[in-house]
Amino acid sequence: MGTVPAYFGCLVFDDRVMKANLSASVYRSLKKTIDEGAKLDSGVANAVAEAMKNWAVSNGATHFTHWFQPLTGITAEKHDSFIAPAPDGGVIMDFSGKELIKGEPDASSFPSGGLRATFEARGYTAWDPTSFAFIKDKTLCIPTAFCSYGGEALDKKTPLLRSMEALNKQAMRILKLFGNEDVKCVRTSVGPEQEYFLVDKALYEQRKDLIFTGRTLFGAKPPKGQEMDDHYFGVIKPRVAAYMADLNDQLWKLGILAKTEHNEVAPAQHELAPIYTTTNIATDHNQLTMEIMQKVAAKHDLVCLLHEKPFAGVNGSGKHNNWSLATDTGINLLSPGETPYENAQFLLFLCAVIKAVDDYQDLLRIAVATAGNDHRLGANEAPPAVVSIFLGDELTGILDAIETDAPYAGVKKTTMKLGVDVLPRFARDTTDRNRTSPFAFTGNKFEFRMLGSSNSIACANIMLNAAVAESLKQYADDLEQAENFEQALHDRIQKTIRDHKRIIFNGNGYDDAWIKKATEQLGLLNYRTTPDCIPHLLDEKNVQMLTAHKVFSLSELQSRCEISLENYCKAVVIEANTMADMARKQIIPAVESYAAEVAGSAAAKLSLVPDTACSYEKNLVKKLSGLVDEMDQKTKELLCAVQGLSACADVEHEGYAIRDTVLPKMNALRAVADEAETLTAEAFWPFPTYSELLFGVR
Ligand code: ADP
Ligand code: MG
Repeated sequence: MGTVPAYFGCLVFDDRVMKANLSASVYRSLKKTIDEGAKLDSGVANAVAEAMKNWAVSNGATHFTHWFQPLTGITAEKHDSFIAPAPDGGVIMDFSGKELIKGEPDASSFPSGGLRATFEARGYTAWDPTSFAFIKDKTLCIPTAFCSYGGEALDKKTPLLRSMEALNKQAMRILKLFGNEDVKCVRTSVGPEQEYFLVDKALYEQRKDLIFTGRTLFGAKPPKGQEMDDHYFGVIKPRVAAYMADLNDQLWKLGILAKTEHNEVAPAQHELAPIYTTTNIATDHNQLTMEIMQKVAAKHDLVCLLHEKPFAGVNGSGKHNNWSLATDTGINLLSPGETPYENAQFLLFLCAVIKAVDDYQDLLRIAVATAGNDHRLGANEAPPAVVSIFLGDELTGILDAIETDAPYAGVKKTTMKLGVDVLPRFARDTTDRNRTSPFAFTGNKFEFRMLGSSNSIACANIMLNAAVAESLKQYADDLEQAENFEQALHDRIQKTIRDHKRIIFNGNGYDDAWIKKATEQLGLLNYRTTPDCIPHLLDEKNVQMLTAHKVFSLSELQSRCEISLENYCKAVVIEANTMADMARKQIIPAVESYAAEVAGSAAAKLSLVPDTACSYEKNLVKKLSGLVDEMDQKTKELLCAVQGLSACADVEHEGYAIRDTVLPKMNALRAVADEAETLTAEAFWPFPTYSELLFGVR
């Protein structure tokens, strides 16, 4: 296969391929579109389409598709072949600029939350030239945005691109004030660390819960879990190593910068992190990575679980969204600079993030809210549902000094007067010790740690970009009018620290005392579950901000609110029905047969030795029979709770009912079944146990 540099990106229509296959003038026009959003004329589009098709066909592609990210959370594609009939009865491979730029999938079955009545089935997909086309499964995939005919976004890419544009616009205003005349644009970059589990495929296929819901709904604690801390960064087992090597190859061919891989805390849990890149591309790449992870697993007779909580009692999987913003001239705006002026600029951007996270805690929480992630947040394995920022002692000390105009001991000059002093560089190891913080400054970037492993990173970044754009807008509105820029700058930074310091917390985020203080004294929000937070998407202040920056329209927000709640309800109802099915058709019959066997052996004993007490058998049969009755009862109650949902007036109330009635009934049924598992002979248990699933891959 050759060396990695030789095949990296070989399935991507990237800059190298464009340069080699397009005429100089077409290449220049396309670059202008990519870099500056200029409109492509149809001549150029046709030339690009022709080159793309020739390249794809010569690399084995037979089909093309507009690849998009509907609100289902996964990607969608509808394939068309390149073939067109030729007059001689044969075919030619054909692809036009029109087909490249716009597609019209039948959109009626994608969730739209009422945005598009089903009879108006057509939505359209529009090429996003900022993300390179690639080949997957003999198909040329063209990254696209997906909109309704009225122009409303039906996907995650469109608002993400809008949020990047909003942030660019406001950040440019600030940079102008600092005299950065050479900067043409500001972009956010993201490096998402992806956690996942690998389980043996043959075992997976015996569990309806994994197949239907992605997580185990039953399962007693295995004798060994993660208590020995021997898995984190442990030696990678041969089967897993082979999987990772194959995965890297596939990702590298797709131009994805897969970089770091290691075992995670839980047994069978692993992590993959790419090198960071522009948010839009990082998002496409993360979606693609999740898909390829699952495909490659199948080749190795494994299944890759991306669910946030596949196993109770061991850590679930998240995704860390490392985020920073940088200029096209290569300056990271979250990195302290060399000069006092650069440092003042750094502090202003830092403050913009602090203010954004405090003002829009709810939007960040909403961006990661799913039924799966509800099992992690606040469960002492992932950040709490209360959003706070970790800055580290050094940076917090500096902000404290600015707040009170006091001298800061850590800096050579005594008074922290902006524009005068030189800030220290923040070494990563002084800033990255706290792993319990939802939102941590790690030297030159922020790490947002609340995302679930299956979340699209688009949602979190849309909210983050928009909220920071809003802070910067307020700063720019003020500073552009200031008579004394330096004074106004100082005042703004100081005011931000005073107004928003409550959101800064450097302690242990898992500590109950913090949650109590945060919610009761500081007034921070604590939305524990998805139905608790999603309706707040439509709070006045959120609608106001997101529409002002043109990231969402009101109707888009309403539809997203509806879809998120719907997804939550559907996910839990499927889980509830799967539980009932497994309890009735698998667990109860298994426990019954085992009890019958035990009773049978007692009867046999008695016939041989009539005065035997058989107390072991009697007690066990009595216990098992009691548990079976209880399981039957709890299953009925669960199904009754599910049926009760039809009485809910709307999806919001259905969400509450699920939270308050269905989920507790699921937990109750599980507790009884798990107890029965510990008392039932292994040979009788109807599906693989936690021990087998968690330790089965070697
Ligand atoms: P850790 O596991 O300690 O948090 P990793 O090294 O595994 O750290 O992952 C850090 C991630 O942050 C990587 O994806 C890396 O590319 C990314 N990253 C580094 N610098 C930046 C930056 N300036 N902006 C965004 N992401 C970054
Ligand atoms: Mg991390």
